[in-house]
Amino acid sequence: MKLPADYIERMRLLLGEDSEKFLSSYEAARTHGLRFNMGKINAGCSAAEEIIEQFGLEPIPWCEPGYYYDESARPGKHPYHAAGLYYIQEPSAMSVVELLDPKPGDVVLDLAAAPGGKSTHIADKLQGEGLLIANEIHLARAKILSENIERMGIANCVVMNASPDRLAERFPGFFDKIMLDAPCSGEGMIRKDPNAAAEWSVDLVRKCATRQMDILPDAVRMLKPGGILAYSTCTFNREENEDTIQALIERFPELELLQTERIWPHLHKGEGHFAAILKKNAEYTEDLREKIKPGQKSDKTNKLMSEAISLFEDFQKQVLPGFRLGPGEPLLFGNQLYHLPYAAGCSFGDQTLQSLKVVRPGLHLGEVKKTRFIPAHSLALAVNKRSAKPSHTYSLAADSREILAYLHGEALITKRSVQGWVIVLIEDHPVGWGKESEGQLKNHYPKGLRWLF
Ligand code: SAM
Repeated sequence: MKLPADYIERMRLLLGEDSEKFLSSYEAARTHGLRFNMGKINAGCSAAEEIIEQFGLEPIPWCEPGYYYDESARPGKHPYHAAGLYYIQEPSAMSVVELLDPKPGDVVLDLAAAPGGKSTHIADKLQGEGLLIANEIHLARAKILSENIERMGIANCVVMNASPDRLAERFPGFFDKIMLDAPCSGEGMIRKDPNAAAEWSVDLVRKCATRQMDILPDAVRMLKPGGILAYSTCTFNREENEDTIQALIERFPELELLQTERIWPHLHKGEGHFAAILKKNAEYTEDLREKIKPGQKSDKTNKLMSEAISLFEDFQKQVLPGFRLGPGEPLLFGNQLYHLPYAAGCSFGDQTLQSLKVVRPGLHLGEVKKTRFIPAHSLALAVNKRSAKPSHTYSLAADSREILAYLHGEALITKRSVQGWVIVLIEDHPVGWGKESEGQLKNHYPKGLRWLF
């Protein structure tokens, strides 16, 4: 692989005698990883074992649900990927959330979140309790993030599209834990994407370091006293890693560096990552989890809302009798009904989001069309088999043709007398909606997600 001469020289300076081993790692094949979604791999479910065997997966030492796979396995083309059973993620990138260690009930921000590797990992650790705000500054990337949050069936996440400074104005001292996987010069991406080598320059490193120091103070501001910040990059130079952290601690003496970790491609099986874990020890002065009173809604809004809720509740009784929403409040965006999640001990309601750009205000429940309720794809992925009454199960072994046909968007013959909405399951795992009538299943797998021939 052709590496920029300046890059080689800098890596030689950084690594000394280890640099030849590092540089020859570019001749080796890149690594691939997937992380199981433990929220969907319930006790007694054999899907993970089947996938491990089918793809010949090997455990990633620093992340229990993480596994290496061989390029030929192509797990992105397996129906279990569409059902959100795992997330494809570069192996060393799985180290950081393990260090951040979010616990159920925590209020967590992922400040630079797209496409969602760290957010989906954080959500898995929250086990449905607490709140995750996954933010991405670029709208197109925020939409991809939102799709990944949906596919993984995450109900307690709000996806936002805001700049860090806008968020910091709204959420001072708010979060127990913050993840900042910073935009960086991507030296650890070079083996995966040779274009990264062409884009690399000393100037880019400098610009990235400056940008990181622009974003980090906003992250510090949003952390509550005693809160933990994880900073990470997929680059190797000191300017964007140790030096940035050093400059940050000098500027914010209330920060205590608890730990740093590096994953190197010549020492570990991964493309490379840097992580620093910091604690905010401050006696805090800014508004702590500002108390925002629920706003008065107009009578018209209240009427529309109560109609929407009652349509959803009827639907829930008939189709999802075992499903319960977690703590939160209903939100109506036009005719789209959402469930905005709450976390205990923090004031967070729809007023908190006002005038911020929100891509997904919690779990999307569905659309209200006059007197009909059309369930959202997100809802299918957020429920489990036990909570759905009319369902249609396809088996991977016996129905592979039907599964592909469903994922392609085709109607299917069921020859049953069931009428109305059904959850479509692959083995035990919901993958989307269908509407059954006279022995036919009309396909409601979203058009934008359909597999192409
Ligand atoms: N954490 C993500 C994951 O695990 O999937 C990867 C994040 S990527 C390394 C960095 C992100 O920062 C990109 O999505 C990029 O759009 C975003 N970004 C770029 N400039 C930014 C800025 N000035 N402030 C905040 N985020 C920015």
